[in-house]
Amino acid sequence: VALLYAAETQGAAVLFEFLHRQDPSIEIRVWPDCGQDSEIEFVVVSGEAPTDLRRFVNLRGMQSTWAGVNALLNSRDLPPDVPLARMVADEMSNWMAEYVVYHVLDIIRGGSDLRSSQAECIWQQRTHLASKPAIGILGLGELGQDIARKLLGLNFDVSGWVRTKRQFEGISIYSGPGELPEFLGRNSIVVCLLPLTEHTRGILNAELFARMPRGSSIIHVGRGPQLMEGDLIKALDTGQLSRAVVDVFAQEPLPEHHPFWSHPKITVTPHVAAISRAGMGAALILENYHRAIAGRELLHQVDRTSGY
Ligand code: NDP
Repeated sequence: VALLYAAETQGAAVLFEFLHRQDPSIEIRVWPDCGQDSEIEFVVVSGEAPTDLRRFVNLRGMQSTWAGVNALLNSRDLPPDVPLARMVADEMSNWMAEYVVYHVLDIIRGGSDLRSSQAECIWQQRTHLASKPAIGILGLGELGQDIARKLLGLNFDVSGWVRTKRQFEGISIYSGPGELPEFLGRNSIVVCLLPLTEHTRGILNAELFARMPRGSSIIHVGRGPQLMEGDLIKALDTGQLSRAVVDVFAQEPLPEHHPFWSHPKITVTPHVAAISRAGMGAALILENYHRAIAGRELLHQVDRTSGY
């Protein structure tokens, strides 16, 4: 039995040390040094598989070091019947929540105007908003829930949009396409934390922006292809939206001449909201390795039908 590590290698020694300390019997091989293909029973991958994983005929489980598995699922190199788990880690949730809370506060405190004023040596005071804006989170999964809790702690009115209706204390929940318009109508900051699936591709479009109150803002940290980039520019230029913070793009790295770079109402960040780090989620990787070898369901196993 061998575990093949075929994910990001920078800093991976921390993970190997952890696995070895916890279970010295685990034999770790690092891509591309696989040894005998038939000995590989568990594989750790990141965004995309480096090889056709169907060659490992005795594979029993796959662990992604990324939370979003859309690229992996779209690859034909993935054995269809081997369970795949995605990354869920406190560290990742903390980074994502920090990013979103930071940008929410920057939007409501007018950070962009303050920075422009300073650049021109202008002493321009701003009054505070009469009330805190309502914040809506598209996708209230592992990451979205943590953000919601942190925003609730700052006394924001928080709501979430999910696929399957359920209850969360202190958060108004909307579900399915039928309840999306009502959700959008009540929020003046919308955060996108949806996985990329056939249902969420292109979801951030002119129609969605038009349903938000005039002058609203969006923070997009899901996946690039969810955003219709031209629609966003139009919504900002007409004043329907007032600000956008965008971390993920249809093409990454964002091309040098892309209009987002210089748009005065867009904050661009280079897919850094919550970057995966080798060694992150080591306990989850170990647990899922044991589960896979024992033929048990993995933790945070991806539902291959729904695509997340
Ligand atoms: P989860 O799978 O835990 O949560 C996904 C949420 O989206 C769930 O609440 C789910 O609803 C909801 N959802 C999915 N499809 C639909 C739909 N069609 N309609 C309504 N709601 C839907 O994922 P995570 O929170 O862990 O991660 C979310 C995404 O964040 C990742 O897929 C990835 O793309 C992105 N990400 C971005 C990073 C960055 O640095 N920018 C870093 C890490 C992740 P339900 O609860 O009903 O299933």
